[in-house]
Amino acid sequence: MTTETNQQEFGFQAEIKQLLHLLSHSLYQNREIAIRELISNASDALDKFRHITLSEDKYRDDAELEIHLEVNEEENLLVIKDNGIGMTRDELIQNLGTIAHSGSKEFFKSQTGESKKDLSLIGQFGVGFYSAFMLAGKVEVISRSYKEEQGWRWVSDGTGKFTIEEADDVERGTQIRLHLLEDQKEFAGSTRLKHILNTYSTFIPHPIMLEDEHVNNQPPIWVEPKSQLDQEKYDNFYQYLTHRTDEKPLWHLHISSDSPFQFHTIMYCPKNNIEKLGFGGYENGLQICAKRILVDRSCRDVLPEYLRFLYGLVDSADLPLNVSRESLQDNTIFRKIRKVLVKQVLGFLEKQAEKEPDNYREFYQEFGIILREGVHNDFENRDRIAGLLRFTSSNHPENLTSLDAYIERASSDQKQIYYISGTDIDSIKKNPNLEIFNKKKIEVLYLSDPVDEIVLANLMAYKEHSITSIDSSDVDLSDEKDSENKDSDDEKAEEKTESPSGFNRVLELFKETIGDKVESVRESKRLTESSCCLVNPAGAVSTHLQKVLSMSKQDFEMSKHIFEVNPDAPLVKKLRELSVNSENDDFIRKTGSQMLSVAMLQAGLVPDINEMVDTTDELLQELASKRSSIITE
Ligand code: ADP
Repeated sequence: MTTETNQQEFGFQAEIKQLLHLLSHSLYQNREIAIRELISNASDALDKFRHITLSEDKYRDDAELEIHLEVNEEENLLVIKDNGIGMTRDELIQNLGTIAHSGSKEFFKSQTGESKKDLSLIGQFGVGFYSAFMLAGKVEVISRSYKEEQGWRWVSDGTGKFTIEEADDVERGTQIRLHLLEDQKEFAGSTRLKHILNTYSTFIPHPIMLEDEHVNNQPPIWVEPKSQLDQEKYDNFYQYLTHRTDEKPLWHLHISSDSPFQFHTIMYCPKNNIEKLGFGGYENGLQICAKRILVDRSCRDVLPEYLRFLYGLVDSADLPLNVSRESLQDNTIFRKIRKVLVKQVLGFLEKQAEKEPDNYREFYQEFGIILREGVHNDFENRDRIAGLLRFTSSNHPENLTSLDAYIERASSDQKQIYYISGTDIDSIKKNPNLEIFNKKKIEVLYLSDPVDEIVLANLMAYKEHSITSIDSSDVDLSDEKDSENKDSDDEKAEEKTESPSGFNRVLELFKETIGDKVESVRESKRLTESSCCLVNPAGAVSTHLQKVLSMSKQDFEMSKHIFEVNPDAPLVKKLRELSVNSENDDFIRKTGSQMLSVAMLQAGLVPDINEMVDTTDELLQELASKRSSIITE
């Protein structure tokens, strides 16, 4: 039937050669994934053909779209056949000779060394077809595209090359003929195949015939009542959707609803966040079915971006069958379904956070960094999403707290949620701005991730509590009643109205030397131990965030800080004493300049290094000469 003269030979793309080498040398046990991948490709081909006939009548015929499996145990042959779109000669070369997705290439580059061969990911990276070579020493693909009368035969033994030649009398669609390896003969046995098909094929939306038997005539899992399903069935469906063999989901959500409109959905949260691993972002979307027929295999609009890590399927009898991706978004039912899904997911997470906090923590640690985007992007649900966020805090340095738990612990007249940000928890704990909060036992959220601060700054308030960075100048704790910790010291401090002696003079001298570097110099009400600190003018974002922003934007201007000085700190007390004698003015100025440099370093900012070096040298000289005068005395 074939015309030998037409045969032409091609070399596989380098990455595919590498992949084939990997497959043939792999000891990977779970070879049945190859069957799953080939059936999944056949099913896609049927979907694509059905989609085409919806708009182009001329291709329509009465033949039912089906997948057929034929076995021949004597010849060690397994054939998987579909009457889908088929492939032209060019498509065979393109689709079965090169890797299209750049992410897949990256993946294979990372697969070096024996230990790293994780072939379970093969389907996920869009190269499922090649898993055929785990079972077969020779693979034939005979295909005819719906667009033409001529059929083609593609053949390869899975080493470096493949051939293509004309094939006559080929029906529309594709048949994959697997000439099984000696040790993989079992795949030509109906019993073994039936078992595999029972595991994976119930999710395939087209009839699968094994010889003459229709093997997937049970209802699909998403329309079955939950009581009929066990975890294994859910796990299998997850593996089918994600192409992740051996992996179980973190959780799933199965919803069936009849009113106000009819729909079924199963959504899954994976165990690990692949965005953290650097394989790019989630692009899976959910599968959309109308009356069990697949309309869109990866719809990214049915869930908002901040839930993009979920896998799943939505089936609604109220969705039109003949619908394009674009028009889907304009469909009222589709928009309503989207709304319900978001509410259901948020509701599920709220319940999990309350009833199974450990499981929620596990989820949050992986996906919190994606979920939090919702505060910014989903105005309607922002408070619910904010309620799902978790932070480290001075009260729970080892554990995470929610904003609600924070508010619950705060005194009833505290109307702020306080936070402080920094590069890491240890340096945050040393921030002098915290002193008064620690003393008054007021809880402060510790934010070591700048995005958390952007999220909170964006939120501005939560449940009538304004969200405030403690290094902002408008933090005023004088009204806070800290009954638990009120001691005589505090009372004294609050009664104080006049500045202690000599302090105004010290501030004046400081202003003379650093006045142009800061917005103002003033007495601190927030320090209890440290001599000084920097705070931000009201309305400015925290120093840490400014620093982060200035690194990413060249024209970002840092706001000038307010330099706060603690009159009761030992160093400042000494300066106050010295200030009575104008001979000490210069020393006090230099000390002020040095204190500013240190405060800047502490806040993660870079002071004027030359000036700091000079002043340090001068102050140390002064100290040294004082010591030597003690010796000579
Ligand atoms: P993926 O299916 O993830 O794209 P594969 O390596 O499994 O990756 O397949 C590569 C491509 O080959 C598919 O995208 C599809 O275009 C084509 N293909 C594979 N099997 C079939 C089939 N049975 N019918 C038509 N096209 C197919």
